[in-house]
Amino acid sequence: MPQLSTDTLLTLDRAHVWHPYGPMPGTVTPYVVESASGVRLRLAEPVAGGQRELVDGMSSWWAAIHGYRHPALDEAVREQLGRMSHVMFGGLTHEPAVRLAARLVEITPEPLQHVFLADSGSVSVEVAMKMCLQYWQSTGRPQKRRLLTWRGGYHGDTFHPMSVCDPDGGMHHLWGGVLPGQLFAPQPPAGFDAPLDAEYAAQFEELMARHAGDLAAVIVEPVVQGAGGMQFHSPAYLRMLRELCDRYGVLLVFDEIATGFGRSGALFAADHAGVSPDVMCLGKALTGGYLTLAAALCTGEIAEGISRGEMPVLAHGPTFMGNPLACAAANASLDLLLGQDWAVEVKRIEGGLRDGLAAAAGLPGVHDVRVQGAIGVVQLDHPVNVPAATEAAARAGVWLRPFRDLIYTMPPYVTEDQDVARIAAAVTAAAVAG
Ligand SMILES: *Cc1c(COP(=O)(O)O)cnc(C)c1O
Repeated sequence: MPQLSTDTLLTLDRAHVWHPYGPMPGTVTPYVVESASGVRLRLAEPVAGGQRELVDGMSSWWAAIHGYRHPALDEAVREQLGRMSHVMFGGLTHEPAVRLAARLVEITPEPLQHVFLADSGSVSVEVAMKMCLQYWQSTGRPQKRRLLTWRGGYHGDTFHPMSVCDPDGGMHHLWGGVLPGQLFAPQPPAGFDAPLDAEYAAQFEELMARHAGDLAAVIVEPVVQGAGGMQFHSPAYLRMLRELCDRYGVLLVFDEIATGFGRSGALFAADHAGVSPDVMCLGKALTGGYLTLAAALCTGEIAEGISRGEMPVLAHGPTFMGNPLACAAANASLDLLLGQDWAVEVKRIEGGLRDGLAAAAGLPGVHDVRVQGAIGVVQLDHPVNVPAATEAAARAGVWLRPFRDLIYTMPPYVTEDQDVARIAAAVTAAAVAG
């Protein structure tokens, strides 16, 4: 049972608790969540319009694909809790981690054979970068240590991932002397269905050719750029990257932390293009939103290259690596996902969002409306008034968390049609208010 009154809780929260991208003390009052079930968050107190339950339009940032308190996930975690919640992974191993790694190898593109389990998405990106740099170091090309990406990306908040985030969105001006200087190509032309722009490809190739000698890898989010601006591009650009990386001897990293596990309409966004990266990062929906877990997968060639080197090990090993509870949740989440026709559910939500958001395109202040897989985005022509937009969504019974000029949703795959419609209406209401 809760031990703090809502007032006390919020006072302590404001005084002591950092929230994502927040000031201290906090300036906006967060909603207090008491519990969650299915696609609904239950709040401690009624909010705007007297709502005490909000349909979650955010899947807790791409993660809760099966909704909350799913009986199969609850049971899997409880069962694992009865064995052990954690043991160190150095010198020890266990079935939840081994099963998960084997499963990930099986469902990701074939050349990916080896799995490093990390404790957050950002750490998996760190590990992916370390794999690439160490591969070149181990194979006698230590000068190959820069990264190339395109603008508009997001890869996490620790320093090396931050260095490949969009330079403006990632506030690189704050970190001039601190961040490694990476290379940036322009953002790929927008549109999932857009044809490959030959001029863009030529420009990208020119950049790559010029820097091939010191480039370790290209890192991008395939098809959907998430927190960097919610833009979609054609899978043709992934084929372009694969060809250029092969031509110039540069590794290719796909950060599928947001897109993995069906969100974009394919199990992995790489599947839209039929290409395989050399390294792939997974996270967010990996445990169905239950616990923090991420993974960096790599090819046999990278693993062998590293293991032949002067330091023949991948020198990384988080304390909570391979956490059994998290792995058990991930195994159960994958059973659930792959045991159903997930693509039909994603398509159904895509259809609902397309229908529900169509009218938003004509609203004053709306710059663009786009939908891809179970992701719906309304981009305004001005920065969102976040408190006003959040409140308008809550009045409509939905939890949304807009940022910059974007009001967006990626509902749990179990969201019923009626609730998808409600979410779309709330996004529209937020666009009007924000
Ligand atoms: C969220 C995200 C990350 C960072 O993951 P954390 O678990 O928040 O560290 C990295 N890359 C992409 C594409 C993401 O969406």
